[in-house]
Amino acid sequence: MQEKGDFFAKYLRICKKSSNFAGVLGRTARIGRIMEKKIVILAIESSCDDTSSAVIVDGVLRSNVIASQKVHEEYGGVVPELASRAHQLNILPVVDTALKRAGVAKEEISAIAFTRGPGLLGSLLVGTSFAKGLALSLGVPVIDVNHLQGHVLAHFVEPGEELIAATPSLQGVEIKHPSFPFLCLLVSGGNSQIIKVQRNETQDGKEAHLPHMEIIGQTIDDAAGEAFDKCAKVLGLPYPGGPWIDKLAKQGDPTKYPFAKPNIPGYDYSFSGLKTSFLYTLRDMIKAHGVETIDELAEKVPNLREDMCASLQATVIDILMRKLKKAAQDLGIRQVAVAGGVSANSALRQAFIDYGKRYHWEVFIPPFSFTTDNAAMICQAGYFKYLDHDFCAIDEVPFAKTTI
Ligand code: ADP
Ligand code: MG
Repeated sequence: MQEKGDFFAKYLRICKKSSNFAGVLGRTARIGRIMEKKIVILAIESSCDDTSSAVIVDGVLRSNVIASQKVHEEYGGVVPELASRAHQLNILPVVDTALKRAGVAKEEISAIAFTRGPGLLGSLLVGTSFAKGLALSLGVPVIDVNHLQGHVLAHFVEPGEELIAATPSLQGVEIKHPSFPFLCLLVSGGNSQIIKVQRNETQDGKEAHLPHMEIIGQTIDDAAGEAFDKCAKVLGLPYPGGPWIDKLAKQGDPTKYPFAKPNIPGYDYSFSGLKTSFLYTLRDMIKAHGVETIDELAEKVPNLREDMCASLQATVIDILMRKLKKAAQDLGIRQVAVAGGVSANSALRQAFIDYGKRYHWEVFIPPFSFTTDNAAMICQAGYFKYLDHDFCAIDEVPFAKTTI
């Protein structure tokens, strides 16, 4: 861990050694600017197939740049090796743009936050190595961020006025932050979890900015987003399938195909049986109509894809919300949030609003920009950890798998 004090001491030593008076003046002016004590956090997210960078200045999000990788579309899923290469191509322009949009010079950065995991190891290595290299060159500390915690902390991001003006998906959206304790349903391509989020303490007994998170239920097999993506693939829809299911479901009948629902105890989830049920429904229809492909079946069964999508979506949402309701009731918690890529789903967002009304919950639904992978949420986690003086060593390595 390198403290800010070490950085200044090193800087002053360099200035003292210098015989160039103008150089000393220039450096002193820069130190003066830094001494104004703005807290500037640069964040880098590269856990999967989005290269993203964001900047928070004194708690306010100034920029959030995301380069999504199109290279995977033709393969119907993320190809890890291609993802790493695309991150390498994207990372420099993405970070540069994030700093420029934030109006921040790299010398003003207080610390660099990076996603350490979970995720694809090759992808994580690109972001982690870049963060460490830049931090070393600037003499600032690094902060490791758990990607899953980042998704939950998306609820604490405070976008600045200029960013809101430049981002249509942030306009007209009520930005409100939950208080503690609250429950968060984290649903993404890799995770489906119910998380209890509470106040936390720092090592010296003060209230921490980074809350304590505890998983009280999670999928025992596939994630909700994975179920959407795999079922969409079976229907011949492009990757990622979640947004396509959302779109087609709007014209479909959610009661048309009754798919299997899991019977798992406690607050845990399971989606693999639903995936099989979806597959077998299609297989049986293909057989019954004497056709060979989904396209041929779609010609014989009107509204096939729309009805299948609507029924799948309704089943996933029902599974998710029942367990969440049980957890909220059992724990007596009425503040309920949703996070992760699947929280972009319009029907799930509506289900939150409906459950909120019915069960007197205060619900927290993130703006679209902070649902799928983004560096704004990593930056928020980094900002909290900076305030808690929670840095990591420069030789920390990324991890592919970890819990919250
Ligand atoms: P991860 O962190 O696991 O990489 P993300 O948080 O980026 O995942 O979320 C990606 C997942 O979100 C994908 O499975 C994608 O299909 C799903 N997704 C994105 N938008 C929607 C939507 N509108 N409806 C349903 N699923 C969606
Ligand atoms: Mg994610």
